[in-house]
Amino acid sequence: MAIAHELLKYILIVALGGGISLFLSIYAFLRLKNTPGGKYFVLATAMSSIFTLAYAFELASATLDGIKFWLKIEYIALPFLPLFILLMCFDYVGQKMGRGFRNGLLAIAAMTVLVQTTNDFHHLYYSSVGLRVDSPFAIADLEAGPWFYVHSLFLYGCVAVSLGILLKQLRNHSFKFRMQVLLMIAGLLVPVVASFFYVAGVSPYGIDLGPVFMSVSFILHGIALLPFQMFNVAPIARDTVFESMEEGAIVLNRNNVVVDYNRSILKVLPVLRKQAIGKPVEEVLSDNRLLHKIISREQKCDYELYVDGELLHFQIRFSPVRNKKDILVGKIVSFVNVTERVEMERALKQLASIDGLTQVFNRTYFLEKAEEVFERLSLKGGLASVIMFDIDHFKRVNDTYGHATGDTVLTYIAQSAKESVREMDILGRYGGEEFVICLPNTSMEAAQKVAEAFRKQISESYLLIDGKRIDLTLSFGVSEVQIEAGDFSHSIQAVMGEADQALYAAKENGRNRVELFKNLLYAIGKA
Ligand code: GH3
Ligand code: MG
Ligand code: MG
Repeated sequence: MAIAHELLKYILIVALGGGISLFLSIYAFLRLKNTPGGKYFVLATAMSSIFTLAYAFELASATLDGIKFWLKIEYIALPFLPLFILLMCFDYVGQKMGRGFRNGLLAIAAMTVLVQTTNDFHHLYYSSVGLRVDSPFAIADLEAGPWFYVHSLFLYGCVAVSLGILLKQLRNHSFKFRMQVLLMIAGLLVPVVASFFYVAGVSPYGIDLGPVFMSVSFILHGIALLPFQMFNVAPIARDTVFESMEEGAIVLNRNNVVVDYNRSILKVLPVLRKQAIGKPVEEVLSDNRLLHKIISREQKCDYELYVDGELLHFQIRFSPVRNKKDILVGKIVSFVNVTERVEMERALKQLASIDGLTQVFNRTYFLEKAEEVFERLSLKGGLASVIMFDIDHFKRVNDTYGHATGDTVLTYIAQSAKESVREMDILGRYGGEEFVICLPNTSMEAAQKVAEAFRKQISESYLLIDGKRIDLTLSFGVSEVQIEAGDFSHSIQAVMGEADQALYAAKENGRNRVELFKNLLYAIGKA
Protein backbone atom coordinates (compact mmCIF):
# COMPACT_ATOMS: atom_id res chain seq x y z
CA MET A 1 0.00 0.00 0.00
CA ALA A 2 2.80 2.38 0.99
CA ILE A 3 4.61 1.43 -2.20
CA ALA A 4 1.57 2.11 -4.40
CA HIS A 5 1.28 5.40 -2.56
CA GLU A 6 4.89 6.20 -3.38
CA LEU A 7 4.30 5.45 -7.07
CA LEU A 8 1.13 7.52 -7.09
CA LYS A 9 3.13 10.48 -5.82
CA TYR A 10 5.46 10.26 -8.82
CA ILE A 11 2.61 9.75 -11.24
CA LEU A 12 1.00 12.90 -9.92
CA ILE A 13 4.23 14.88 -10.17
CA VAL A 14 4.73 13.75 -13.77
CA ALA A 15 1.08 14.46 -14.62
CA LEU A 16 1.44 17.91 -13.09
CA GLY A 17 4.45 18.50 -15.34
CA GLY A 18 2.32 17.44 -18.33
CA GLY A 19 -0.47 19.72 -17.16
CA ILE A 20 1.90 22.69 -16.95
CA SER A 21 3.16 22.03 -20.50
CA LEU A 22 -0.41 21.73 -21.74
CA PHE A 23 -1.37 25.00 -20.07
CA LEU A 24 1.69 26.76 -21.53
CA SER A 25 0.88 25.40 -24.95
CA ILE A 26 -2.68 26.72 -24.85
CA TYR A 27 -1.60 30.05 -23.36
CA ALA A 28 1.12 30.45 -25.96
CA PHE A 29 -1.30 29.55 -28.73
CA LEU A 30 -3.59 32.33 -27.58
CA ARG A 31 -1.04 34.96 -26.60
CA LEU A 32 2.51 34.25 -27.73
CA LYS A 33 2.03 32.89 -31.22
CA ASN A 34 3.41 36.00 -32.88
CA THR A 35 6.45 36.39 -30.70
CA PRO A 36 9.80 35.31 -32.14
CA GLY A 37 9.94 31.56 -31.68
CA GLY A 38 6.40 31.59 -30.34
CA LYS A 39 5.01 29.25 -32.97
CA TYR A 40 7.63 26.60 -32.19
CA PHE A 41 7.11 27.18 -28.49
CA VAL A 42 3.46 26.22 -28.98
CA LEU A 43 4.51 23.07 -30.86
CA ALA A 44 7.26 22.14 -28.38
CA THR A 45 4.99 22.57 -25.35
CA ALA A 46 2.28 20.56 -27.11
CA MET A 47 4.75 17.74 -27.80
CA SER A 48 6.01 17.97 -24.25
CA SER A 49 2.51 17.72 -22.80
CA ILE A 50 1.66 14.67 -24.95
CA PHE A 51 4.92 13.03 -23.99
CA THR A 52 4.69 13.83 -20.29
CA LEU A 53 1.03 12.90 -19.87
CA ALA A 54 1.61 9.65 -21.77
CA TYR A 55 4.54 9.00 -19.48
CA ALA A 56 2.26 9.47 -16.47
CA PHE A 57 -0.02 6.81 -17.99
CA GLU A 58 2.99 4.58 -18.62
CA LEU A 59 3.91 4.82 -14.96
CA ALA A 60 0.33 4.04 -14.03
CA SER A 61 0.25 0.94 -16.25
CA ALA A 62 0.45 -2.35 -14.44
CA THR A 63 1.17 -4.56 -17.48
CA LEU A 64 3.93 -4.70 -20.04
CA ASP A 65 1.42 -4.28 -22.86
CA GLY A 66 0.06 -1.16 -21.25
CA ILE A 67 3.56 0.20 -20.82
CA LYS A 68 4.39 -0.55 -24.46
CA PHE A 69 1.20 1.16 -25.64
CA TRP A 70 1.96 4.38 -23.76
CA LEU A 71 5.59 4.26 -24.86
CA LYS A 72 4.33 4.40 -28.44
CA ILE A 73 2.19 7.43 -27.64
CA GLU A 74 5.19 9.10 -25.97
CA TYR A 75 7.28 8.49 -29.04
CA ILE A 76 4.81 10.12 -31.35
CA ALA A 77 5.72 13.39 -29.64
CA LEU A 78 9.19 12.99 -28.15
CA PRO A 79 11.32 12.83 -31.33
CA PHE A 80 9.99 16.17 -32.54
CA LEU A 81 10.54 17.94 -29.25
CA PRO A 82 14.28 18.72 -29.65
CA LEU A 83 13.70 19.81 -33.23
CA PHE A 84 10.97 22.27 -32.26
CA ILE A 85 13.18 23.62 -29.46
CA LEU A 86 15.99 24.08 -31.96
CA LEU A 87 13.66 25.85 -34.41
CA MET A 88 12.35 27.99 -31.57
CA CYS A 89 15.88 29.12 -30.70
CA PHE A 90 16.66 29.85 -34.35
CA ASP A 91 13.52 31.91 -34.64
CA TYR A 92 14.14 33.60 -31.31
CA VAL A 93 17.48 34.98 -32.38
CA GLY A 94 16.14 35.81 -35.81
CA GLN A 95 18.01 33.22 -37.82
CA LYS A 96 16.52 30.97 -40.43
CA MET A 97 17.33 27.31 -40.75
CA GLY A 98 17.79 26.10 -44.30
CA ARG A 99 14.71 24.34 -45.62
CA GLY A 100 16.65 21.23 -46.68
CA PHE A 101 18.36 20.99 -43.34
CA ARG A 102 15.07 21.38 -41.49
CA ASN A 103 13.40 18.69 -43.61
CA GLY A 104 16.37 16.40 -42.96
CA LEU A 105 15.95 16.83 -39.21
CA LEU A 106 12.19 16.33 -39.53
CA ALA A 107 12.89 13.08 -41.42
CA ILE A 108 15.16 11.83 -38.62
CA ALA A 109 12.46 12.59 -36.05
CA ALA A 110 9.79 10.89 -38.17
CA MET A 111 12.11 7.93 -38.63
CA THR A 112 12.48 7.64 -34.85
CA VAL A 113 8.69 7.56 -34.50
CA LEU A 114 8.50 4.80 -37.11
CA VAL A 115 11.39 2.76 -35.71
CA GLN A 116 10.07 3.03 -32.16
CA THR A 117 6.48 2.05 -33.00
CA THR A 118 7.59 -0.93 -35.09
CA ASN A 119 10.26 -2.00 -32.61
CA ASP A 120 8.64 -5.39 -32.06
CA PHE A 121 9.56 -6.40 -35.61
CA HIS A 122 13.21 -5.40 -35.70
CA HIS A 123 14.31 -4.39 -32.20
CA LEU A 124 16.32 -1.54 -33.64
CA TYR A 125 15.16 0.92 -31.00
CA TYR A 126 15.09 -1.30 -27.92
CA SER A 127 16.94 -4.55 -28.12
CA SER A 128 14.75 -5.78 -25.30
CA VAL A 129 11.65 -4.50 -23.53
CA GLY A 130 10.76 -5.96 -20.15
CA LEU A 131 9.84 -5.09 -16.62
CA ARG A 132 12.37 -4.16 -14.01
CA VAL A 133 12.85 -6.87 -11.48
CA ASP A 134 14.28 -4.63 -8.79
CA SER A 135 11.21 -2.40 -8.66
CA PRO A 136 8.21 -2.99 -6.43
CA PHE A 137 5.90 -1.88 -9.23
CA ALA A 138 5.70 -2.27 -13.01
CA ILE A 139 8.45 -0.14 -14.48
CA ALA A 140 9.82 -0.67 -17.99
CA ASP A 141 13.29 -2.12 -18.31
CA LEU A 142 14.55 -1.02 -21.69
CA GLU A 143 17.75 -2.10 -23.38
CA ALA A 144 18.96 0.40 -25.93
CA GLY A 145 19.17 -0.67 -29.56
CA PRO A 146 21.18 1.12 -32.31
CA TRP A 147 18.48 3.67 -33.23
CA PHE A 148 18.14 4.67 -29.59
CA TYR A 149 21.64 6.08 -29.91
CA VAL A 150 20.70 7.86 -33.13
CA HIS A 151 17.81 9.45 -31.27
CA SER A 152 20.01 10.37 -28.29
CA LEU A 153 22.57 11.93 -30.59
CA PHE A 154 19.80 13.84 -32.33
CA LEU A 155 18.38 15.05 -29.01
CA TYR A 156 21.65 16.22 -27.52
CA GLY A 157 22.77 17.59 -30.88
CA CYS A 158 19.67 19.78 -31.12
CA VAL A 159 20.10 20.99 -27.55
CA ALA A 160 23.80 21.68 -28.09
CA VAL A 161 23.17 23.68 -31.28
CA SER A 162 20.35 25.60 -29.55
CA LEU A 163 22.67 26.46 -26.70
CA GLY A 164 25.35 27.46 -29.17
CA ILE A 165 23.23 29.97 -31.05
CA LEU A 166 21.90 31.48 -27.83
CA LEU A 167 25.39 31.81 -26.36
CA LYS A 168 26.56 33.41 -29.57
CA GLN A 169 23.81 36.02 -29.22
CA LEU A 170 24.88 36.68 -25.69
CA ARG A 171 28.38 37.40 -26.92
CA ASN A 172 27.55 39.29 -30.09
CA HIS A 173 24.51 41.25 -29.17
CA SER A 174 24.38 44.58 -27.45
CA PHE A 175 23.23 42.71 -24.35
CA LYS A 176 19.91 44.42 -24.43
CA PHE A 177 18.01 41.13 -24.40
CA ARG A 178 20.58 39.52 -22.18
CA MET A 179 18.07 38.63 -19.46
CA GLN A 180 15.78 37.06 -22.05
CA VAL A 181 18.55 35.09 -23.72
CA LEU A 182 19.83 33.94 -20.32
CA LEU A 183 16.34 32.68 -19.49
CA MET A 184 16.25 30.75 -22.76
CA ILE A 185 19.63 29.21 -21.93
CA ALA A 186 18.56 28.32 -18.39
CA GLY A 187 15.43 26.75 -19.86
CA LEU A 188 17.59 24.51 -22.05
CA LEU A 189 19.92 23.52 -19.25
CA VAL A 190 17.29 22.47 -16.70
CA PRO A 191 16.22 19.20 -18.39
CA VAL A 192 19.80 18.47 -19.50
CA VAL A 193 21.00 18.60 -15.90
CA ALA A 194 17.97 16.60 -14.78
CA SER A 195 18.58 13.88 -17.35
CA PHE A 196 22.14 13.46 -16.14
CA PHE A 197 20.71 12.52 -12.77
CA TYR A 198 18.50 10.01 -14.53
CA VAL A 199 21.38 8.53 -16.47
CA ALA A 200 23.51 8.49 -13.32
CA GLY A 201 20.78 6.38 -11.70
CA VAL A 202 20.03 8.90 -8.99
CA SER A 203 16.34 9.14 -9.81
CA PRO A 204 14.07 6.81 -7.81
CA TYR A 205 13.14 3.40 -9.22
CA GLY A 206 14.38 4.51 -12.64
CA ILE A 207 11.48 6.93 -12.93
CA ASP A 208 12.48 9.64 -15.40
CA LEU A 209 11.69 13.03 -13.91
CA GLY A 210 13.06 14.75 -17.01
CA PRO A 211 9.57 15.52 -18.31
CA VAL A 212 8.78 17.35 -15.09
CA PHE A 213 11.88 19.48 -15.43
CA MET A 214 10.94 20.08 -19.02
CA SER A 215 7.81 21.89 -17.92
CA VAL A 216 9.96 24.05 -15.66
CA SER A 217 12.18 24.88 -18.61
CA PHE A 218 9.19 25.80 -20.73
CA ILE A 219 8.04 28.20 -18.03
CA LEU A 220 11.43 29.91 -18.35
CA HIS A 221 11.13 29.99 -22.13
CA GLY A 222 7.63 31.42 -21.86
CA ILE A 223 8.90 34.22 -19.64
CA ALA A 224 11.64 34.93 -22.17
CA LEU A 225 9.02 35.27 -24.90
CA LEU A 226 6.66 37.49 -22.92
CA PRO A 227 8.29 40.89 -23.60
CA PHE A 228 7.94 40.34 -27.33
CA GLN A 229 4.25 39.70 -27.15
CA MET A 230 3.53 42.73 -29.31
CA PHE A 231 5.89 41.88 -32.13
CA ASN A 232 5.35 40.04 -35.30
CA VAL A 233 9.03 40.18 -36.04
CA ALA A 234 11.94 38.47 -34.42
CA PRO A 235 13.43 40.83 -31.85
CA ILE A 236 16.95 40.27 -32.93
CA ALA A 237 16.19 39.81 -36.61
CA ARG A 238 14.63 43.25 -36.58
CA ASP A 239 18.18 44.46 -36.05
CA THR A 240 18.67 44.83 -39.76
CA VAL A 241 16.02 47.53 -39.94
CA PHE A 242 15.60 48.79 -36.44
CA GLU A 243 19.20 48.81 -35.26
CA SER A 244 20.61 50.35 -38.39
CA MET A 245 18.09 53.17 -38.29
CA GLU A 246 19.75 56.52 -37.96
CA GLU A 247 16.98 57.84 -35.79
CA GLY A 248 16.81 56.68 -32.24
CA ALA A 249 13.67 54.80 -31.26
CA ILE A 250 12.11 53.33 -28.15
CA VAL A 251 9.23 50.89 -28.32
CA LEU A 252 6.71 51.03 -25.50
CA ASN A 253 3.80 48.72 -24.92
CA ARG A 254 0.33 49.90 -24.00
CA ASN A 255 1.31 50.31 -20.36
CA ASN A 256 4.30 52.44 -21.31
CA VAL A 257 6.73 49.69 -20.47
CA VAL A 258 9.96 49.75 -22.47
CA VAL A 259 9.89 46.72 -24.77
CA ASP A 260 12.71 47.61 -27.11
CA TYR A 261 15.02 50.34 -28.29
CA ASN A 262 17.70 50.67 -30.92
CA ARG A 263 21.36 51.55 -30.84
CA SER A 264 20.95 55.12 -32.08
CA ILE A 265 18.80 56.08 -29.10
CA LEU A 266 21.63 55.21 -26.70
CA LYS A 267 23.44 58.37 -27.76
CA VAL A 268 20.41 60.40 -26.72
CA LEU A 269 19.37 58.36 -23.70
CA PRO A 270 22.29 56.38 -22.31
CA VAL A 271 20.13 55.47 -19.27
CA LEU A 272 18.50 52.80 -21.42
CA ARG A 273 21.68 50.75 -21.14
CA LYS A 274 20.82 49.93 -17.55
CA GLN A 275 18.54 46.96 -18.21
CA ALA A 276 15.63 49.19 -19.16
CA ILE A 277 13.67 46.49 -20.95
CA GLY A 278 10.60 45.46 -19.03
CA LYS A 279 10.63 48.59 -16.88
CA PRO A 280 8.03 51.38 -17.04
CA VAL A 281 9.35 54.35 -19.01
CA GLU A 282 8.52 56.56 -16.04
CA GLU A 283 11.04 54.66 -13.94
CA VAL A 284 13.66 54.64 -16.70
CA LEU A 285 13.31 58.40 -17.24
CA SER A 286 12.97 59.31 -13.57
CA ASP A 287 15.87 61.78 -13.97
CA ASN A 288 14.25 63.46 -16.95
CA ARG A 289 10.78 64.68 -16.00
CA LEU A 290 10.43 66.83 -19.11
CA LEU A 291 11.04 63.98 -21.51
CA HIS A 292 8.73 61.69 -19.58
CA LYS A 293 6.03 64.35 -19.81
CA ILE A 294 6.54 64.68 -23.56
CA ILE A 295 6.32 60.92 -24.02
CA SER A 296 3.23 60.47 -21.87
CA ARG A 297 1.46 63.32 -23.67
CA GLU A 298 2.44 61.92 -27.06
CA GLN A 299 2.87 65.35 -28.52
CA LYS A 300 5.14 65.71 -31.53
CA CYS A 301 7.67 68.32 -30.49
CA ASP A 302 11.21 69.57 -30.64
CA TYR A 303 13.65 68.61 -27.96
CA GLU A 304 17.11 69.96 -27.29
CA LEU A 305 19.84 67.98 -25.67
CA TYR A 306 23.55 68.27 -25.03
CA VAL A 307 25.33 65.17 -26.28
CA ASP A 308 29.09 65.10 -25.66
CA GLY A 309 29.05 68.85 -25.12
CA GLU A 310 27.28 69.49 -28.41
CA LEU A 311 23.77 70.92 -28.53
CA LEU A 312 21.60 68.65 -30.66
CA HIS A 313 18.05 69.26 -31.79
CA PHE A 314 15.62 66.37 -32.04
CA GLN A 315 12.12 66.09 -33.22
CA ILE A 316 10.22 63.56 -31.16
CA ARG A 317 7.60 61.63 -33.11
CA PHE A 318 5.10 59.01 -32.09
CA SER A 319 3.83 56.14 -34.18
CA PRO A 320 1.20 53.72 -32.92
CA VAL A 321 1.94 50.01 -33.13
CA ARG A 322 -1.01 47.79 -33.98
CA ASN A 323 -1.22 44.04 -34.10
CA LYS A 324 -2.66 41.99 -36.94
CA LYS A 325 -6.18 42.56 -35.64
CA ASP A 326 -5.57 46.30 -35.74
CA ILE A 327 -5.64 46.56 -31.99
CA LEU A 328 -3.30 49.15 -30.49
CA VAL A 329 -0.53 47.34 -28.66
CA GLY A 330 1.99 50.10 -28.11
CA LYS A 331 3.92 52.92 -29.67
CA ILE A 332 7.27 53.75 -31.16
CA VAL A 333 8.81 56.97 -29.91
CA SER A 334 11.40 58.12 -32.40
CA PHE A 335 14.00 60.84 -32.02
CA VAL A 336 14.86 62.41 -35.34
CA ASN A 337 18.04 64.45 -35.27
CA VAL A 338 17.11 67.77 -36.88
CA THR A 339 20.22 69.64 -35.75
CA GLU A 340 21.42 70.24 -39.29
CA ARG A 341 18.05 71.64 -40.33
CA VAL A 342 17.77 73.89 -37.28
CA GLU A 343 21.28 75.23 -37.82
CA MET A 344 20.59 75.75 -41.50
CA GLU A 345 17.44 77.71 -40.69
CA ARG A 346 19.36 79.79 -38.21
CA ALA A 347 22.07 80.49 -40.78
CA LEU A 348 19.49 81.39 -43.41
CA LYS A 349 17.76 83.74 -41.02
CA GLN A 350 21.12 85.29 -40.23
CA LEU A 351 21.89 85.65 -43.93
CA ALA A 352 18.51 87.27 -44.52
CA SER A 353 18.97 89.75 -41.70
CA ILE A 354 22.58 90.81 -42.10
CA ASP A 355 24.01 93.11 -44.74
CA GLY A 356 26.64 91.13 -46.61
CA LEU A 357 29.23 93.88 -46.85
CA THR A 358 29.07 95.66 -43.51
CA GLN A 359 27.76 92.82 -41.31
CA VAL A 360 25.20 95.06 -39.63
CA PHE A 361 21.42 94.55 -39.96
CA ASN A 362 20.02 95.21 -43.40
CA ARG A 363 17.19 97.68 -43.96
CA THR A 364 14.38 95.11 -43.81
CA TYR A 365 15.60 93.50 -40.62
CA PHE A 366 16.34 96.87 -39.03
CA LEU A 367 12.76 97.98 -39.70
CA GLU A 368 11.41 94.73 -38.29
CA LYS A 369 13.41 95.09 -35.07
CA ALA A 370 12.69 98.83 -34.72
CA GLU A 371 8.97 98.21 -35.19
CA GLU A 372 9.09 95.74 -32.33
CA VAL A 373 10.59 98.48 -30.17
CA PHE A 374 7.82 100.86 -31.17
CA GLU A 375 5.17 98.22 -30.42
CA ARG A 376 6.57 97.72 -26.94
CA LEU A 377 6.64 101.49 -26.37
CA SER A 378 3.05 101.84 -27.60
CA LEU A 379 1.96 99.26 -25.04
CA LYS A 380 3.83 100.58 -22.02
CA GLY A 381 4.68 104.14 -22.98
CA GLY A 382 8.20 105.63 -23.14
CA LEU A 383 10.64 107.27 -25.46
CA ALA A 384 13.13 106.41 -28.18
CA SER A 385 15.58 108.24 -30.41
CA VAL A 386 16.72 107.64 -33.95
CA ILE A 387 20.08 108.64 -35.37
CA MET A 388 20.72 108.70 -39.10
CA PHE A 389 24.20 109.29 -40.41
CA ASP A 390 25.90 109.46 -43.78
CA ILE A 391 29.53 109.53 -44.84
CA ASP A 392 30.58 112.95 -46.09
CA HIS A 393 31.76 113.16 -49.68
CA PHE A 394 31.88 109.44 -50.03
CA LYS A 395 31.76 109.70 -53.78
CA ARG A 396 35.22 111.19 -53.61
CA VAL A 397 36.52 108.16 -51.75
CA ASN A 398 35.22 105.95 -54.51
CA ASP A 399 36.53 108.23 -57.23
CA THR A 400 39.97 108.65 -55.68
CA TYR A 401 40.74 105.20 -54.31
CA GLY A 402 38.39 102.95 -56.16
CA HIS A 403 35.21 101.10 -55.32
CA ALA A 404 37.01 98.33 -53.38
CA THR A 405 38.54 100.85 -51.01
CA GLY A 406 35.10 102.46 -50.72
CA ASP A 407 33.81 99.09 -49.56
CA THR A 408 36.53 98.80 -46.95
CA VAL A 409 35.67 102.27 -45.68
CA LEU A 410 31.99 101.36 -45.43
CA THR A 411 32.83 98.24 -43.45
CA TYR A 412 35.12 100.18 -41.17
CA ILE A 413 32.46 102.80 -40.46
CA ALA A 414 29.82 100.16 -39.79
CA GLN A 415 32.07 98.24 -37.40
CA SER A 416 33.04 101.47 -35.59
CA ALA A 417 29.36 102.36 -35.25
CA LYS A 418 28.63 98.93 -33.84
CA GLU A 419 31.26 99.49 -31.17
CA SER A 420 29.86 102.93 -30.34
CA VAL A 421 26.30 101.81 -29.63
CA ARG A 422 24.92 99.79 -26.71
CA GLU A 423 23.75 96.20 -26.81
CA MET A 424 20.10 97.26 -26.82
CA ASP A 425 20.52 99.72 -29.70
CA ILE A 426 19.65 98.58 -33.19
CA LEU A 427 22.05 99.48 -35.97
CA GLY A 428 21.25 99.03 -39.63
CA ARG A 429 22.58 99.95 -43.05
CA TYR A 430 19.77 101.95 -44.55
CA GLY A 431 21.18 102.43 -48.03
CA GLY A 432 24.51 103.02 -49.82
CA GLU A 433 26.59 104.76 -47.18
CA GLU A 434 23.73 105.82 -44.96
CA PHE A 435 23.17 104.16 -41.60
CA VAL A 436 20.43 104.29 -38.99
CA ILE A 437 20.39 103.61 -35.26
CA CYS A 438 17.28 103.10 -33.13
CA LEU A 439 17.96 103.76 -29.44
CA PRO A 440 15.14 102.55 -27.17
CA ASN A 441 14.46 104.41 -23.89
CA THR A 442 16.92 107.09 -24.92
CA SER A 443 16.31 110.83 -25.00
CA MET A 444 17.38 113.02 -27.88
CA GLU A 445 20.10 114.56 -25.67
CA ALA A 446 21.56 111.19 -24.81
CA ALA A 447 21.39 110.13 -28.47
CA GLN A 448 23.07 113.37 -29.44
CA LYS A 449 25.94 112.54 -27.08
CA VAL A 450 26.33 109.10 -28.68
CA ALA A 451 26.37 110.67 -32.14
CA GLU A 452 28.73 113.45 -31.11
CA ALA A 453 31.23 111.03 -29.57
CA PHE A 454 31.16 108.86 -32.67
CA ARG A 455 31.50 111.87 -34.98
CA LYS A 456 34.51 113.05 -33.01
CA GLN A 457 36.13 109.63 -33.02
CA ILE A 458 35.86 109.28 -36.81
CA SER A 459 36.88 112.84 -37.63
CA GLU A 460 39.92 112.70 -35.34
CA SER A 461 41.23 109.44 -36.74
CA TYR A 462 42.10 108.33 -40.22
CA LEU A 463 42.28 105.11 -42.20
CA LEU A 464 45.41 103.75 -43.85
CA ILE A 465 44.64 101.68 -46.90
CA ASP A 466 47.49 100.50 -49.14
CA GLY A 467 49.68 103.11 -47.54
CA LYS A 468 47.23 105.87 -48.35
CA ARG A 469 45.73 107.97 -45.62
CA ILE A 470 42.00 108.49 -45.81
CA ASP A 471 40.35 111.09 -43.63
CA LEU A 472 36.67 110.67 -43.04
CA THR A 473 33.86 112.68 -41.53
CA LEU A 474 30.23 111.90 -40.86
CA SER A 475 27.03 113.93 -40.67
CA PHE A 476 24.26 113.07 -38.23
CA GLY A 477 20.58 113.77 -37.80
CA VAL A 478 18.82 112.96 -34.53
CA SER A 479 15.15 112.81 -33.67
CA GLU A 480 13.17 111.66 -30.66
CA VAL A 481 9.71 110.28 -30.04
CA GLN A 482 7.68 110.22 -26.82
CA ILE A 483 4.96 107.59 -26.84
CA GLU A 484 2.02 107.42 -24.43
CA ALA A 485 0.90 103.98 -23.34
CA GLY A 486 -1.86 102.84 -25.69
CA ASP A 487 -0.88 105.24 -28.46
CA PHE A 488 -0.19 103.23 -31.56
CA SER A 489 -0.04 106.17 -33.98
CA HIS A 490 3.76 106.52 -34.02
CA SER A 491 5.85 104.79 -36.64
CA ILE A 492 9.56 104.25 -36.99
CA GLN A 493 9.35 105.59 -40.55
CA ALA A 494 8.03 108.95 -39.33
CA VAL A 495 10.82 109.37 -36.79
CA MET A 496 13.39 108.27 -39.37
CA GLY A 497 11.98 110.89 -41.74
CA GLU A 498 12.62 113.56 -39.09
CA ALA A 499 16.15 112.30 -38.41
CA ASP A 500 16.78 112.35 -42.16
CA GLN A 501 15.69 115.96 -42.32
CA ALA A 502 18.09 116.78 -39.50
CA LEU A 503 20.83 114.90 -41.39
CA TYR A 504 20.08 116.98 -44.47
CA ALA A 505 20.47 120.09 -42.35
CA ALA A 506 23.79 118.82 -41.03
CA LYS A 507 25.02 118.51 -44.62
CA GLU A 508 23.68 121.96 -45.44
CA ASN A 509 25.38 123.44 -42.42
CA GLY A 510 28.85 122.26 -43.43
CA ARG A 511 28.97 118.50 -42.72
CA ASN A 512 30.91 116.74 -39.94
CA ARG A 513 28.22 117.73 -37.44
CA VAL A 514 25.19 116.53 -35.53
CA GLU A 515 21.81 118.21 -35.97
CA LEU A 516 18.67 117.72 -33.90
CA PHE A 517 15.31 117.67 -35.61
CA LYS A 518 13.95 119.77 -32.71
CA ASN A 519 16.33 122.65 -33.50
CA LEU A 520 15.40 122.37 -37.13
CA LEU A 521 11.77 123.05 -36.27
CA TYR A 522 12.84 126.02 -34.27
CA ALA A 523 14.88 127.35 -37.20
CA ILE A 524 11.96 126.84 -39.59
CA GLY A 525 9.64 128.51 -37.09
CA LYS A 526 11.97 131.48 -36.86
CA ALA A 527 12.23 131.84 -40.62
P1 GH3 B 1 27.49 113.73 -49.13
O1 GH3 B 1 28.50 114.29 -48.24
O2 GH3 B 1 26.52 114.76 -49.63
O3 GH3 B 1 26.79 112.55 -48.59
O4 GH3 B 1 28.28 113.29 -50.40
P2 GH3 B 1 28.45 111.86 -50.96
O5 GH3 B 1 29.55 111.84 -51.93
O6 GH3 B 1 28.57 110.88 -49.89
O7 GH3 B 1 27.11 111.74 -51.74
P3 GH3 B 1 26.07 110.61 -51.80
O8 GH3 B 1 25.65 110.22 -50.44
O9 GH3 B 1 24.98 111.05 -52.73
O10 GH3 B 1 26.85 109.46 -52.52
C1 GH3 B 1 26.81 108.12 -52.10
C2 GH3 B 1 27.82 107.34 -52.88
O11 GH3 B 1 28.13 106.15 -52.20
C3 GH3 B 1 27.31 106.93 -54.22
C4 GH3 B 1 27.68 105.55 -54.41
O12 GH3 B 1 28.54 105.31 -55.50
C5 GH3 B 1 28.42 105.17 -53.17
N1 GH3 B 1 28.06 103.91 -52.73
C6 GH3 B 1 26.81 103.49 -52.36
N2 GH3 B 1 26.87 102.20 -51.95
C7 GH3 B 1 28.16 101.80 -52.07
C8 GH3 B 1 28.82 100.57 -51.80
O13 GH3 B 1 28.26 99.59 -51.39
N3 GH3 B 1 30.16 100.52 -52.02
C9 GH3 B 1 30.85 101.60 -52.48
N4 GH3 B 1 32.18 101.51 -52.66
N5 GH3 B 1 30.25 102.74 -52.75
C10 GH3 B 1 28.91 102.87 -52.54
MG1 MG C 1 27.34 110.70 -48.34
MG1 MG D 1 24.32 109.23 -49.07
